[in-house]
Amino acid sequence: MRILPASAIALLLATALIAAFGILLDHRIAAGAGFTVFVAGSAWAGAWIRSRLNNLRRWLQSREGLVALPGEHAWETLESELRYYLKHRDRRWHDTRRRLEQLEALAQELPVGVALLDCGGRLLEANRKAYELLALDPERGRGQRLQGWLREPELADLFAAEGPSLRQGTAPYHPDPSRTLAFTCTRKDDGTFLLVVEEITEQLRLQKMREDFVANVSHELRSPLTSLRGFAETLLADPGLPTDQRQEFLRIMDGQIERMQSLVDDLLTLSRLEAQPGQASQTPVALDALLSELADRYQARAAEAGIDLRMPGTGEVAGLTLLGDADALHQALGNLVENGIKYTPKEGSVTVTVEPRKDTVAIHVGDTGIGIEPQHLPRLTERFYRVDKGRSREVGGTGLGLSIVKHILHNHGGRLEVESAPGQGSTFSAILPVRFSSA
Ligand code: ADP
Repeated sequence: MRILPASAIALLLATALIAAFGILLDHRIAAGAGFTVFVAGSAWAGAWIRSRLNNLRRWLQSREGLVALPGEHAWETLESELRYYLKHRDRRWHDTRRRLEQLEALAQELPVGVALLDCGGRLLEANRKAYELLALDPERGRGQRLQGWLREPELADLFAAEGPSLRQGTAPYHPDPSRTLAFTCTRKDDGTFLLVVEEITEQLRLQKMREDFVANVSHELRSPLTSLRGFAETLLADPGLPTDQRQEFLRIMDGQIERMQSLVDDLLTLSRLEAQPGQASQTPVALDALLSELADRYQARAAEAGIDLRMPGTGEVAGLTLLGDADALHQALGNLVENGIKYTPKEGSVTVTVEPRKDTVAIHVGDTGIGIEPQHLPRLTERFYRVDKGRSREVGGTGLGLSIVKHILHNHGGRLEVESAPGQGSTFSAILPVRFSSA
C-alpha cells in the first residue's frame, strides 16, 4: 500500500538522487536543482496528503454526523475521529438490535397472526399466532408454500396475477373447519405479501346469538300484539257487543298484556345480569328467611293450581347463611318453584329440600310434573328454549326463566343441576356456596 501516487514517489526519489549525486560530485547546479525540486515535491506531497485526509474527514462527517475533534496533526485528528465514529456506530448498532428484538417480541405477542410471504406464496416470516392459525410447524414452516391458503378464492387471483393489491376474506381453520378465520392480504411494493389472520369464530357466534335474540324477541312480541290488535279492532267496530263477550275479550287482552309485561321484565332482568357479570353483592342472606318468603309468595298460587307446595321446616335450615343478593336469590329460587307449579298437573306436588354439603348447600326443587326428555336437558338454560312452546305460552312462560336462574347462580359462584325423566317429574337443584354458618 502506497501513501503517495507512484509517479510522485518516483519524482521525489529521482530528485533526492540527483541532489545526492550533485553533492557527491560537487556539481552545484545538479545539487541545487535536485534539492529545490525535492523540497517543492515534498511540500506538494504534504499538502496532497493533508487534502486527502481532510476529504476523508469531511466524508466521514457527512456520513456519520458532524463531529470535529481537536488533535495536533491530521493523522491524530483522523484517528480520534475514527475511534469516535466506530464507538458511536457500535452503540447505534446495539440500540438497533435491541429495538429489533423488542419489535420481534411485540410481533410474537400480537393476538393476531402476521406473516410475510414471497411472491410465490412461500412463508418468509411469521409470528407465533400466524403459525398457529395457518397450522404450520414453527420449526419447518419457513419457506413452505401455503398450499391450502392460496387456494382460497379471495387469495388465488391476488397471487396469480398483478391486479388489486389488497384482499380480505374468511377461510376455515384447516384442522377444524368449524372455526372461522378472517384474513387481509396486501401486496407490498417489493412484491412480497403481508398476510394478517385472526380467528373470528367467537365474534360470529355472538353475532348469530344477537340476530337470533332479536328475531326471538320480535317473534315473542308479535303474537300477543296481533291478538291485542284483533280484539281491539273487534271492540271498536262493534260497540254493541254483549257485555259478557266484551268482558271475555278484555280478559284475553289483559292476559296478553301480562304476557308482554313478563317478557319485558325478564328481558330487563337478563340484560341487567349480563351487564354486570361476576360477583353479586356479599350481603348475608339467612336461608330460612329466604325460604319462608318463597312459601308466602307461592303457597296461594300452588293451592290455586291444585298443587301441594312443601317447604322444609325452619329447623332444617336454621343457621345456614348464604352471602349474596337476597332479591336475586329469591328470584332464582322463585323461578324454579314457579316452573314446578307450572309444569305439574293438578294434584301433584312441588317439594323444596335443602341438603348441606361440604362447602355448599344444594336447594332442590322437585316436582311430580310432566318431566323432560333427556335430549332437552343441556339446552334448558338457553334463552327462549322451550321443550313445548305451546304449553309454555299457555302457562305464561317467557322461555327466559332458567336462563335468568343460571346467570344469578353463576354470579353467586353456584350452578344449576337438573334431573328429569318424562312423566316422572323433575328436580332442579341450585348449588350455592355456603360462605359461613352460625349455629
Ligand atoms: P318458561 O318461561 O317457558 O318456563 P324457562 O326458561 O323457565 O322458560 O324453562 C324453559 C323450558 O324448560 C320450559 O319451557 C319447559 O319446557 C322446561 N321446564 C322448566 N322447568 C320445568 C319443570 N319443572 N318441569 C318440566 N319442564 C320444565
